Amino acid sequence: MKILKGAEVSAKIREQVQEDLKKLQEKRSGFVPKLAIVRVGENPDDMSYERGAIKKMENFGLQAQSYEFPENISHEEFWAGFQKINQDPGVTGILLLKPLPKQIQEKEIDQLILPEKDLDGISPTNMAKVFMGDGTGFAPCTAEAVVWMLKENQIPIAGKRVVIVGRSLIVGKPLAMLMMKENGTVTVCHTKTADLPGTCRQAEILVAAAGRPELLNDDYVGDEAVVIDVGIHVREDGKLCGDVDFDSIQEKAFAATPVPGGVGTVTTAVLAKHLVQAGLLLHR
Ligand code: NAP
Repeated sequence: MKILKGAEVSAKIREQVQEDLKKLQEKRSGFVPKLAIVRVGENPDDMSYERGAIKKMENFGLQAQSYEFPENISHEEFWAGFQKINQDPGVTGILLLKPLPKQIQEKEIDQLILPEKDLDGISPTNMAKVFMGDGTGFAPCTAEAVVWMLKENQIPIAGKRVVIVGRSLIVGKPLAMLMMKENGTVTVCHTKTADLPGTCRQAEILVAAAGRPELLNDDYVGDEAVVIDVGIHVREDGKLCGDVDFDSIQEKAFAATPVPGGVGTVTTAVLAKHLVQAGLLLHR
């Protein structure tokens, strides 16, 4: 089985980021786009993701700053704090770490974020653009990372049977749209899917985005399928794993992404790409 490593794809995206940054700095000398990572509370997974994202932005020659709010903040206070960041001319793009605590009405924040700063495609405007196949908006970084992973590894999507396990607004649904745009024939599975193993086995490209550690094993993978694992979990032994039981599929799959070192690496590279694109939008 071929292992599809995120680092190689990320390096390719880095080249594009450098080109775009050069274009941007030709328009506005010395300008370095700045990412605001907005976090409520101190979830260790969010904090670890945040550290990784900041490091990646700096590595790509970009700026990033975290904005932290207390877990028990009221909706009104968070709304006002978020709006300040949203309207700060020094902030080029925003990544809001989710889920937010229950007292905050997430939908209202999704509607508040300026579409041109909404790097992870949570605003209704960007979501609509993804669903319309209009590439001028920002798609959720993870969904876009899956497409990059396939394309950069010369894995054709057009005409292929694509099965996505998961229908969330941030991964499964937008990814279904992006795969359709690439002319894949898409099936989306969820907890009510009648025969999940059988449906998954039909896939030529299987994407696991269920948020369940090692849910999909060799029984879910058809011969020579390409398996893309979006999941990321900390196992009881402290090691990271995905939604796919990576060891069990080795003899079945044609190729698969590892966890860690797969889609997650590409996702932060896509975030950097979106940040520079937001800078270009700002300085048209
Ligand atoms: P989510 O909001 O929890 O959605 C999970 C989806 O999977 C739901 O649609 C759910 O179905 C479906 N599902 C759950 N268990 C299932 C089962 N046993 N059989 C079939 N379908 C099942 O999760 P998410 O935010 O989309 O994230 C998915 C995974 O990706 C998580 O592991 C997350 O950590 C990871 N993630 C990774 C990145 C990255 O950069 N690599 C970024 C974002 C998320 P129902 O709709 O029926 O409930």
